[in-house]
Amino acid sequence: MDWELIVCFEVHVELATATKLFCGCRIGTGLAANSLICPICTGQPGTLPTLNKKAVELAVRAGMALNCSINEVSRFARKNYFYPDLPKGYQISQYETPFCENGFLEIEGDGGLMRKIGIRRIHLEEDAGKLVHSSGSLEGSENSFVDFNRSGVPLLEIVADHNREPISSTTEARRYLERLRQVLIDIGISECAIEKGQFRCDVNVSVRRNGEKAFRPRTEIKNIGSFRFINEAIEYEKQRQIELAIKGAPCFQETRLFDEARRITIPMRGKENAPDYRYFPDPDLVEVTLGNDFLDSVRRNMPDLIQGRLSELTCDYGLSEDDAGLIAKDRRLFEYFVRASARIVNRKKLAGWITRDLFSLLKTAALDISASPVSPEKLSELVSLMEHGELTETMGRAVLKEMFQTSRAATEIIEKKSMTPITDIEALISVVQKVIAQNPDAVDTVRSGKKETINFLVGQAMRLTSGRADAREVRDILIKIIFP
Ligand SMILES: [Zn+2]
Repeated sequence: MDWELIVCFEVHVELATATKLFCGCRIGTGLAANSLICPICTGQPGTLPTLNKKAVELAVRAGMALNCSINEVSRFARKNYFYPDLPKGYQISQYETPFCENGFLEIEGDGGLMRKIGIRRIHLEEDAGKLVHSSGSLEGSENSFVDFNRSGVPLLEIVADHNREPISSTTEARRYLERLRQVLIDIGISECAIEKGQFRCDVNVSVRRNGEKAFRPRTEIKNIGSFRFINEAIEYEKQRQIELAIKGAPCFQETRLFDEARRITIPMRGKENAPDYRYFPDPDLVEVTLGNDFLDSVRRNMPDLIQGRLSELTCDYGLSEDDAGLIAKDRRLFEYFVRASARIVNRKKLAGWITRDLFSLLKTAALDISASPVSPEKLSELVSLMEHGELTETMGRAVLKEMFQTSRAATEIIEKKSMTPITDIEALISVVQKVIAQNPDAVDTVRSGKKETINFLVGQAMRLTSGRADAREVRDILIKIIFP
């Protein structure tokens, strides 16, 4: 009997705001403990929170990038629990009305088809402080200290939806996390540095028999440190749950820890459900109403998504993944390519001229694409001349070099140098015969079996014609004459 795996991530992302979510304290790492705190983020009596508008903007930006509907009115709630690094005894989070709901993230599924992995909600909440144990871990420590620098840092929680296209394998899980991280970095809401704790995930795992409709109890694995361990934890948990089910033993809904040394999950506590936290609307914060002006401005400031550019380049322009990857990386380069490709039939060829020839000229001159002396329109003209056989590739390369140095148009340079390709076959044959007569040793070497020496002879013909010969044709004629 085959089993289906159901994986749902809860990802916490630290937002790249300058200050905390409800006070003006700066955000920083590696600083002295409790150096970035104030009465608000340490929960002193009588203080009131003030919402950071930038954090809301970044949350909504994430929601738009992840295809969510944005709630016009949302509000903050208190999530009550006791922990020494949570001075108020509650965390300000969101419950019934988060900023964003019902989105999806598109990834390549195991069958090779694209899948829209459901995202149930995206909400904003404050981070807690950090406990520092005197001997590095809780066990065996005589003292524990608390550092509130992290207290009140804005966190975005992105919760996947187990009801809509959930992740069904460890490879999909990995693709989901990598893609999600890439999107969030791309829209500039966080650096998502895993080692700095800016991108943390908890994962919910359950299994059911193929065809089964109902869900079985799920377990949540907390705070896994790396993508590799996430895969191992999911795989371990899947096998453990299947074995329990086969034995007929119950699987409890609980929170488990992944033991990185032993590569197993171990029980931590019973999984809390919402009622355990006694959520209620935070009376210190009014409802947040996002007006159309605000939403429009978030939309306008949304940076392009690299993923969208990639799929446009491969699907609409027919580029190889390698070329698309090089061009999609930089939005300005992508725009350059799109402008240049307007009158080009062979876009792959254009991509090659950008990623090979133009890149190397830019690199030598230490310029980036926005400062290129060759405009997209001018490059387009050059490539289209070659497309129409009015210029050989060798000539094209020389012309591009001169265009780069002078910013002049290709036609201008060609006219000035009276560069036209040699199309007359008799003329080409006589050039080749001249090369053969001048290089008897090289011809012998080719005859004796060292075929690569033919490249040298082609080069000689190109030199004689100042690049006006078509290299492929020269090679064909050489072979016909040397091996009659
Ligand atoms: Zn503060």
